[in-house]
Amino acid sequence: MLLTVTEVITETHDTKTLRFGFSKDKRIDFIPGQFIMLAIPTEKDGKKTIVNRSYSVASSPTKDYLDLTIKEVPDGFTSKQLQNTEVGEEFEFSGPYGNFVFNEKKMQKIVLIGSGSGISALHSIIQYIQDKELDTRATLIYSNKTPDDIIYKKELLEMNDDMPNFNLFLTITRPEEMENFRQWTGHTGRIDTAFLQQCVKDIKIPYFFLCGSSDFVKSMQTLLLELKVNKEKIKKEVYG
Ligand SMILES: Cc1cc2nc3c(=O)[nH]c(=O)nc-3n(C[C@H](O)[C@H](O)[C@H](O)COP(=O)(O)OP(=O)(O)OC[C@H]3O[C@@H](n4cnc5c(N)ncnc54)[C@H](O)[C@@H]3O)c2cc1C
Repeated sequence: MLLTVTEVITETHDTKTLRFGFSKDKRIDFIPGQFIMLAIPTEKDGKKTIVNRSYSVASSPTKDYLDLTIKEVPDGFTSKQLQNTEVGEEFEFSGPYGNFVFNEKKMQKIVLIGSGSGISALHSIIQYIQDKELDTRATLIYSNKTPDDIIYKKELLEMNDDMPNFNLFLTITRPEEMENFRQWTGHTGRIDTAFLQQCVKDIKIPYFFLCGSSDFVKSMQTLLLELKVNKEKIKKEVYG
C-alpha cells in the first residue's frame, strides 16, 4: 500500500516521527506491537534502488494515522536518510507483521521494558490502553543514555500523571555525558535486578514485552529468567 507523509515530528536530536494520515479507502489494520516493512527509495553507488527496513508502528490502531518513529543509528544508511523526509513524500508499505502483540483479553498486567528506539512498539501498546480506557495495568521501564535521548518524554510523563493504571520508570545510563548531570534527579544506571524489583513488585504475574537492541533484549531476558519469570510470559522484539 502507498501512503503519504502528512506530518514530520521532531522527537529528539536524532529521532523523528513520520506520520501517515489514513483516508477512507487507505488504512492499515494492525495489532499494537506489530511492525511494517517500509520500502525506501534511495541511491547507492550512483544507482537508484529500493531498500526495505522494518519499523514498529508507534501509534495505536485507535488513531486515524500511522506513526513510525525512526532513530538515526550511527553509520545507518536509511535511518539517516529518513530524518530528511518531507511532508508529501510517498512510501510503499507491506505488513503488518509480527507476534510481539498485546492481547487485551489475556493480559491484565504487563511490563514493558525498552531502550532507545525500542519505545516505538511499546508506545503503541500504551496509547491503545489509554484510548480504549482498558483496565490493564501497565508498567514501562525505559532506558536511555541521557535525558535528551528520551523519546516521547513529555507525553510519557503526562500519561504517568493522567493514567492511574500506568507507571513510568526512566533510567539514564550515561549521566556523565549530560551538560549538567545534576539536573537529572531520576534513576541512573542500567536496568538490574534491584531496579527491576523496585519497579515490579509481583514479578511472576505480568506479561513482559522487551524491545530494543539485541544485547539489551538478551540481558533483560536473562534477568527475568533468573528471577524465575515463566519464559512463556516474555515477548521480545529485537531491532538490530
Ligand atoms: C521488527 C523491527 C522493528 C523495528 N522498529 C524500529 C523502529 O520503530 N524505530 C527504529 O528507529 N528502528 C527500528 N528498527 C530498526 C530498523 O529496521 C533499521 O535497522 C534501522 O533504522 C537502521 O537502518 P539503517 O539502514 O540506517 O542501518 P544499516 O545501514 O542497515 O546499518 C548500519 C549499522 O548500524 C547497525 N544497526 C542497525 N540497526 C541498528 C539499531 N536499531 N541500533 C543500533 N545499531 C543498528 C548495523 O549493525 C550496522 O552496523 C526495527 C527493526 C526490526 C527488525
